[in-house]
Amino acid sequence: MAVRKIIRMGHPALRRRAKEVAAYDIGTAALHKLVADMIDTLHDYGGIGLAAPQINEGIRLAIIELPEGATRYGELNEQPLTICINPTIEVLDEATAGYWEGCLSVPGLRGFVERPQKIRVAYTDLNGGVHEITAEGFLATVFQHEFDHLDGKLYIDHISDPTLLSFEEEFERYLSDAEEA
Ligand code: ZN
Repeated sequence: MAVRKIIRMGHPALRRRAKEVAAYDIGTAALHKLVADMIDTLHDYGGIGLAAPQINEGIRLAIIELPEGATRYGELNEQPLTICINPTIEVLDEATAGYWEGCLSVPGLRGFVERPQKIRVAYTDLNGGVHEITAEGFLATVFQHEFDHLDGKLYIDHISDPTLLSFEEEFERYLSDAEEA
């Protein structure tokens, strides 16, 4: 296991569509090792989600882990470590809500992004099991943020009001009171 370097905005690999994970790769030692590295990297950088393209691995794989209690995103509902291979999203309710998002590939910034808040997520796990879950609220935003990375998108692409992009220090000082729940 190893902490990998997270590539940052401007690296062309963050803008490429990632490739499907082939069925014969699921369950292999190589994929288990890659996921172990991603978990180490996520914990070392202190994030809540990481997509494989962020460590310059162009495959459709992302991990999400929302720890219980307070984080820099405020109080969250817990989501145990979830490993999503070849995930898909279906929007169940078009109604959107906004959150101040951040990204390990766009360090030091926060931006306000509105996304649908009720989605169905389907994905394959490391052992080839297929799962379907419904995600609402902030969790729905987190899944959409991570899976965007698999299509070469960053959260800044979704900021409709450019005045709502801020450095973290100024966000804490001037904008955090405006955060929507
Ligand atoms: Zn991100």
